[in-house]
Amino acid sequence: MTRPDIQPKASHFIDGAAIEDTDGTPIVCTYAATGEELARLHAATPAIVDRALAAADRAQAEWAALQPVERGRVLRRAADILRERNHGLSVIETLDTGKPLQETLVADATSGADALEYFGGLAASLGGEHIPLGGDWAYTVREPLGVCTGIGAWNYPMQIACWKAAPALACGNTMVFKPSEATPLSALKLAEILVEAGAPAGVFNVVQGYGEVGAQLIGDDRVAKVSLTGSVPTGRKVYTAAAEGMKHVTMELGGKSPMLVFDDADIDKAVSGAILGNFYSSGQICSNGTRVFVQRKALEPFLDRLRERLSGVVMGDPLDEETNFGPLVNESQMEKVLGFIQAGRDEGARLVAGGARVDRPGYYVEPTVFADVTDDMTIAREEIFGPVLSVLSFDTEEEAIRRANATPYGLAAGVFTNDLARGHRVAAAFRAGTTFINHYNVTPVEMPFGAVKMSGFGRENGKAAIEHYSQVKSVYVGMGDVEAPF
Ligand code: NDP
Repeated sequence: MTRPDIQPKASHFIDGAAIEDTDGTPIVCTYAATGEELARLHAATPAIVDRALAAADRAQAEWAALQPVERGRVLRRAADILRERNHGLSVIETLDTGKPLQETLVADATSGADALEYFGGLAASLGGEHIPLGGDWAYTVREPLGVCTGIGAWNYPMQIACWKAAPALACGNTMVFKPSEATPLSALKLAEILVEAGAPAGVFNVVQGYGEVGAQLIGDDRVAKVSLTGSVPTGRKVYTAAAEGMKHVTMELGGKSPMLVFDDADIDKAVSGAILGNFYSSGQICSNGTRVFVQRKALEPFLDRLRERLSGVVMGDPLDEETNFGPLVNESQMEKVLGFIQAGRDEGARLVAGGARVDRPGYYVEPTVFADVTDDMTIAREEIFGPVLSVLSFDTEEEAIRRANATPYGLAAGVFTNDLARGHRVAAAFRAGTTFINHYNVTPVEMPFGAVKMSGFGRENGKAAIEHYSQVKSVYVGMGDVEAPF
């Protein structure tokens, strides 16, 4: 495939227009499959961030005052445009992230479109309630929060932008979104598409930048809510800064999620779950089930089947639709992952597959499987965010649940079993926000997605997301005399 020119018109999108300011620190986009430079942008200077916030602030009242069905129509039109342009948008996402086109065609703009369609459909049904109080009565009104800041990670740039923008805009908020500096491109496309779909200028703005731009976007008094997708250390800083201004937050952070495979499970299904939960997007997924606990009797059959299935890996140019396994996003992420693999070897885990950088240009690391992993090993405790699967063994259900929950993280968890009661019992016992029975890492927009413990707070997707982008105002209505003590 010939590589298209993906240099955007300008670095930022503010108040309905592409805006450039070359005074900002350069941001260089490279193709993870080759290391070549593809585009060059600039981080926002404080004046640009201020302009974006002013635009979002000005646009908010007008956007909130629209009839909700009209807001919803804008979002649904944007969903249609995303789907019509899915191929081009997927190519941009592949070039920006290095993820195979085979994945981006079905998982990025399309899931963003699902979010716009879903929340567009909900917009007109968001009301309050009537509360009878004898003679007097009260009612509640669901109001937007105001200007929201969205800050994204680099693994699903378009999806993350849509998962935040769609519920925010449906509720009548406006947004300033900062993509990760590693993947700045697709959010700019979303901003253009929303305007094309009829969103008034200023409703959705994009500014590029590093952490300090994010910090300015959180600290500003005009901002009512901050929604971050990122790591736990960044989440801590962002949550703390937001607390200073008593702002609402959604924190979608990292994890070290468990996947339990009981010996009564369908082993092929469990292996598919482990592949989805460890090697899709080369392992760069927050909810990955990176600690795969396999019941002792099923251990060798599971490992044998997993080894066989790894022969199906097609590593290559991510733009080739046959490729099903791409590079990591950049060199520093690759080095980090290789460091964890070394720690696995040093601490005595048994390398079953992979374990090395691939001898080709770009930042490819082989799909790696360690067995005989114990709970105290670094690879069983820390989020790797790369294609490294750790297999641990267990004997009893009680033991598996206890060890699965023994982590500060709580994003996701999965169980494979053919025992119906056990599946639900284990799901109930997991201390995680998003759990799976006999599947893994499927995140349909209808289902709330989020975390407990250090992995975050708040929910994206589903009706639950509405609670995090709106607030309830109570109105008490006195119908009779007002009695007072004097
Ligand atoms: P980071 O935490 O490094 O960065 C996330 C975003 O926060 C980036 O846009 C980053 O900007 C910005 N940022 C960094 N410092 C600050 C600051 N002080 N104030 C405001 N913003 C700041 O995460 P990565 O981009 O490396 O993404 C990987 C992480 O994201 C993993 O831990 C993964 O688990 C998590 N993640 C969670 C998901 C979820 O839904 N729970 C989904 C996807 C990923 P910059 O990049 O310019 O530094």
